[in-house]
Parts: sequence; structure tokens; C-alpha cells
Amino acid sequence: MYLRVLGSAAGGGFPQWNCNCPRCKGLRDGSLRARARTQSSIAVSANGLDWLLINASPDILQQIRDNPVLQPERAQRDSGIAAVLLMDAQIDHVTGLLMLRERQTPLPLLATREVLSDIGTGFPITSILSHYCGVQPHVLVCDGYPLGVPGLPGLELSAVPLDSKPPPYSPFRGSPRQGDNIGVVLSNPTNGRKIFYAPGLGQMTPQLHALMAGCEVVLVDGTFWCADEMQRLGLSSKTAFDMGHLPQSGAGGMLEHLARLPAGVRKVLIHINNTNPILDEDSPERAELTAAGVELAHDGMEILF
Ligand SMILES: [Zn+2]
Ligand SMILES: [Zn+2]
Repeated sequence: MYLRVLGSAAGGGFPQWNCNCPRCKGLRDGSLRARARTQSSIAVSANGLDWLLINASPDILQQIRDNPVLQPERAQRDSGIAAVLLMDAQIDHVTGLLMLRERQTPLPLLATREVLSDIGTGFPITSILSHYCGVQPHVLVCDGYPLGVPGLPGLELSAVPLDSKPPPYSPFRGSPRQGDNIGVVLSNPTNGRKIFYAPGLGQMTPQLHALMAGCEVVLVDGTFWCADEMQRLGLSSKTAFDMGHLPQSGAGGMLEHLARLPAGVRKVLIHINNTNPILDEDSPERAELTAAGVELAHDGMEILF
């Protein structure tokens, strides 16, 4: 089974078009040792030809160009993207659906009822797409039971609800519902190996810890290093928690939780915000991450499982 990281940055990408924070400015002027990153998306495949796209980022066209494996060239009009699964309804995770409108058949779209409702009303992507290729919705139920993906034999996944937040445009921003944000366990049914993927994770729970402890790889929320990162830079009044993300550092932070996982679990952070100091390969925060045995996902990273 193949997993490919198409985009490892949070919303805005790295560098972000209008941002002059120390990280974005440093990358632009060459004073920072760091890699540019597109917005959050991964793809998984059992056969290396047919892929499940997980989140459709606004950078999808660039990501397809950067990953020729997504274009197997079997017909005049073709794509390796057989279906799309959405982790939530955030702009940086769903806007790419509009870029896939030239498909010749309705796009199989897996998402929870809550996410399908947000992208059918507040940000009416599926209504707009109905005038182009249309979508074939598959409602994901967050019961943790494994299910197959239509058109993608050999791949199994299960969805779990996560505590985070629906997008700012959602009428439910202030009163989150179960199903607004999910994590997925991707399994290889032939060898039983599992990857847990959760780019937006606001809170750890004992159940989640147990789930992650049973996986070979965890690919989790690396958005912010500290809770007041945006406030310190004067970029926002909101904390990481206000935005539905558990910061890495500090008491109860992501690094503390990752340290409690069994030694054999590979730990990778993804969905990195452009303000996060871990993007700077020479920063003390990056050294701390490396010392803790935690990796940073990068665009083009491939994980076999
Ligand atoms: Zn995001
Ligand atoms: Zn920035």
C-alpha cells in the first residue's frame, strides 16, 4: 500500500502569499533552510494506479503535476484519482474539488453527513459541481468499523470523530457537531498494517491514544508549535485551540502524547502552519522534534504500509 503526501502545509501553504512572518519571509529571501509546502492533502493506493485523494486542496492541480503517479495515462481523458475523502469542510481541504470538474463521470465523494451539508450549503461546492461532473456522495459513519472504498479494492479505512471545529463559514462554527472533523485509520488488509491520519486534531482522548498505539504510523496535526503562536506574531487573536488544533509544545501538547506511544510507532507531523518554527531546519524547535523521534512530513513524501 502506498501513501503519498501531496501537501504538508496548513491553510495558506508555505510561504503564504500575503505573509511576512519570520518563516515565510525567510523562505522567500533564502535566509532560512526550509522546504516550500503546498496545502494539506495525501493520496493512498493499493495498486499504485488508482488513488483515494484525502482532502482536495486548492493546490491540487500543482500537486497532480508534481506527482506524475496520479496521471496513469490510460485514456485520452484519465486520472489516477478514483475517489475523494474529506476530513472536514475547511476551505484548504475542499476547494480543490472545483478543480476536478472536468471529470467525465460523477466524482465519488466520501464524507460525513455534517461535512456534506456544509459543502452543499454554506460553501455550495457540490451544488456548483452538479453543473459539471457532479458528485456521487458516500456518507461516512464515524463508528470505527472498517469499510472499503468504491472503485479502490485492497484499501480499507475507518473513520473516527475528532474534537475540532467546523469552518468559519459553517453555521455550526460555534456549536460543533460530531462528524465535523474526523480522523481515519487506513489499513492494508493483506498485512494488517495501519496508518492513522488526522491533520486537524484539537484534543487527545484515551480512546484516540489506544487507536494510535495500534498503528504502524501516525500522521497527525502539526499546525502550531505553541498555543499562542499567532497571537505572539500579532497575526490573530485566536489560540491554536480556538482554531481546533492541539499545539505541539507545552504540557498536554502533541509531543507529550506522541512520547507515550509505543516505541515502534512512526510519528510524523503534517498540516504545518507557515508560522510554525519547526519549518526552519536549523531551529531549536526542529532539533527538539528530531530528538523526540518525530518526523516532519514534506510534499512528495512516500510511506509504504
Ligand atoms: Zn487545513
Ligand atoms: Zn507566514
